Amino acid sequence: MLKQIKGLHHVTSLASSAPDNNAFFTNTLGLRRVKKTVNFDAPDVYHLYYGDEVGTPGSVMTYFPFPNAARGKRGVGEVGVTYFSIPRGSASAWAERLATFDVNGITQDIRFGQSRVLFDGPDGERFALVELDDDRAPWTGGGVSTDMGIRGFQGADMRIADGGATSELLQFMGYEVFDTQDNVTRFIVPDGNAANVIDIETLPNAPAAASSAGSVHHIAFAVENRARQLEVREALLDTGYQVTPVIDRDYFHAIYFRTPAGVLFEIATNEPGFDRDEDTAHLGEALKLPSRHAHLRETLEATLVPLP
Ligand code: ZN
Repeated sequence: MLKQIKGLHHVTSLASSAPDNNAFFTNTLGLRRVKKTVNFDAPDVYHLYYGDEVGTPGSVMTYFPFPNAARGKRGVGEVGVTYFSIPRGSASAWAERLATFDVNGITQDIRFGQSRVLFDGPDGERFALVELDDDRAPWTGGGVSTDMGIRGFQGADMRIADGGATSELLQFMGYEVFDTQDNVTRFIVPDGNAANVIDIETLPNAPAAASSAGSVHHIAFAVENRARQLEVREALLDTGYQVTPVIDRDYFHAIYFRTPAGVLFEIATNEPGFDRDEDTAHLGEALKLPSRHAHLRETLEATLVPLP
């Protein structure tokens, strides 16, 4: 069993409108946009990153907004709900705030003894805000008060027709079974970061997901550095997974592999981080381009929809 993986690093999803996506995460949820760049493989599309002050691994929600993309179909073989951490006692205030922003699908429940508010993002993706003891500093954009502010991820749930192989994989990656409630089994990384929860929701008769706007594209797990990443890569290869070479994503290094249930996993390094090319005080303001796309700046600045 691996010890190098510490919980989530980031979650990356697909969207249909950069302005709507940007407004939802920076105003409605009050997160900080920590990077405004473009998709490495489709540079005419933004890659937007939202998180805490510096984009700490375990806080970073990222999006590829493909303009006017059709909405994906939710089902098994994907991440279903992404969980953020909020202060104890703030769930009802969040439910009220989300309602004032005309957010869809607002419900409240208790899962594994934790009070939650669930709601839809702008493309129908599902989120939960979970009341937790958590000493991470919140980011309080959009007029969110400190006693409500989001502190990063708690984790995510995966919807799977047969959770057996994914359960084995998570335990190989260092997760331990915490508890089971109804058809959901919770896994936690001991000694992980604060985003150390993965739930597997077993839905044997649900249709397969179809990926498009509102779908999670991949879920990334954090390792400290490139040496730890290479250890994980070797171990996954030895176990029979098809793992990509290490790819430089400018703000972290990444490897990718697909799980038996079809979910795309990434292992990402905590270094170098989002302040490698701009000051912490101004993160996310300027359009940053990967060096291979630097020559496209004039075209991209003329064609990408401006964001506040
Ligand atoms: Zn990623």
